[in-house]
Amino acid sequence: MDVKILWMYHDLMDLYGDKGNIQVLKTRCEKRGIDVQVDTCGIGEKQNIDSYDIFFLGGGADREQNLIFEDLLSRRDAIEQAMKSGTAFLLICGGYQMFGKYYRDQDGKTVNGLSFFDYYTEAKDRDHRCIGNIAIDVEMDGERFPAVGFENHGGQTRNVSTPLGRVIKGHGNEFQGQFEGFLNDQVAATYMHGPLLPKNPMIADLILKRGLKRRFGDVALEPLDDVLETQARTIMLKRIGAEAPAANASSEN
Ligand code: GLN
Repeated sequence: MDVKILWMYHDLMDLYGDKGNIQVLKTRCEKRGIDVQVDTCGIGEKQNIDSYDIFFLGGGADREQNLIFEDLLSRRDAIEQAMKSGTAFLLICGGYQMFGKYYRDQDGKTVNGLSFFDYYTEAKDRDHRCIGNIAIDVEMDGERFPAVGFENHGGQTRNVSTPLGRVIKGHGNEFQGQFEGFLNDQVAATYMHGPLLPKNPMIADLILKRGLKRRFGDVALEPLDDVLETQARTIMLKRIGAEAPAANASSEN
């Protein structure tokens, strides 16, 4: 069994250690004897996006989003093909915003998104930046668990039909909001840097399963020793006062 991962704009969209997500996907495959191939794709580079099992796009500040958006929009058809072929997507922060309708910064400058989804993002002013540790109650692929991360975004994402989780501590999609990220059958998108997957290996395995499904159907992954990761997450949840998971996440208006 093997998995092919495409790491988009690896040289530009990489905030707060987002590259650690790739490392975790790779390591968790290698420990299980699953062959893994990671390819990168920068601005102007040719890649057959729809031949990959997993598509990863990290976060970037406004500057980086401005640099990549035209190239990203020019690949819309290929990304749509990938969605049709069953590719699993993991998108972080600035990458998350780019799959919605648009991102408007606090000066009113608008960067168009891919518009795969109806959400849109607007930065209000410097007083409404969402910064700090965050904990959310995730419901994904039939599993429910608390996840931790670090957020730093001015953008307020609205009109998210199906969030990744409910905020326990922190902001999430909006300043002092209730919900965090976006989730459908193929796309998991979140504001959580940290990076996300080393802190939350259960999300890593769900993404791997989604990716493997494209060519191998439902795959049961051998459990790994996550004692240290679990301890780290438990300590973090305690430290930010987020031990008790909130009620079921359902929808956001
Ligand atoms: N520029 C975006 C914002 O501030 C994204 C930031 C990020 O990716 N951390 O909302």
